[in-house]
Amino acid sequence: MTTPTVLILLGPPGAGKGTQARILEEDFGLVQLSTGDLLRSAVASGSAAGQQARAVMEAGGLVSDEIVLAILKDRMNQPDVAKGIILDGFPRTDRQAADLDALLATSGQRVNAAISLEVDDEAMVGRVAGRYTCGGCGEGYHDTFKQPATAGVCDKCGGTAFKRRADDNAETVRERLKAYHAQTAPLITYYEGKGVLQRIDAMGDIAAIRQTLGGIVAGVSAH
Ligand code: AMP
Repeated sequence: MTTPTVLILLGPPGAGKGTQARILEEDFGLVQLSTGDLLRSAVASGSAAGQQARAVMEAGGLVSDEIVLAILKDRMNQPDVAKGIILDGFPRTDRQAADLDALLATSGQRVNAAISLEVDDEAMVGRVAGRYTCGGCGEGYHDTFKQPATAGVCDKCGGTAFKRRADDNAETVRERLKAYHAQTAPLITYYEGKGVLQRIDAMGDIAAIRQTLGGIVAGVSAH
C-alpha cells in the first residue's frame, strides 16, 4: 500500500488556500482538511470547544493549540483520509507543526510538500471582504471577481442560498493578517529547513495556479 500524501497549503487569508484545496480534492482524490471549517462547525454546534473558539475567531486571533489539535486529530481518525490530505489553515503555529510531525510519524507518514501561496497583503483585504460561498456545495464566489453566471444561482449545484463568514470584514482581515505574519509565516522557514517547501506566486488567476499546484502535487504523490 502506498503512504498517503500529506500536503500543507500555507498563505495569508485570501491567498486561495480553500479554493485550491477544493480543486486538488477533485483533481487528485485527496481530502481537504480545513481547521477553519472544523472550528466553524464546532461553533455552529454549540460544543464546549466551539463556545471557547467563537470570540477569538470573531476578533481574528488564533484559537488555542489544544482545541485545534483535538479537533484535527478527531478528523484525521476518519477513514476517508486514507488516500491523502490537504491541510488548509493548519498548522498555524510552531507547536501545531511539531505536533503534526509527531502525529504523522506514529503511522509512518510525513509532510510531502508545504506549498506557500505568495500574495500581496493589501490585495487580500479586498479579496476576503467580498467573498461568499454557496450554502449547499461550498463553491466560492466574490462580489467583484467571481459572480455566478446566473445571479443568485450557484453554477455548480444550482443552490440559491449563499453565506458570508462573520470574520470576512476588512477590520478582522487585518487582524488575521497580523496573526499570520506573527505566528504562521515563520513556518515557511521551518518547512524550508525540512526540504519540503515550494513557493508559488498566487496573485494570478485560479486556473494558472491550479496548473502549477497540480504539477507539484503530481510530483510528490508519485513517491
Ligand atoms: P480560516 O478558515 O483558515 O481562515 O480560519 C478562520 C479562523 O479560525 C482563524 O482566523 C482562526 O481564528 C481560527 N483557526 C483556523 N485554523 C486555526 C489554526 N490552525 N490554529 C488556530 N486558529 C485557527
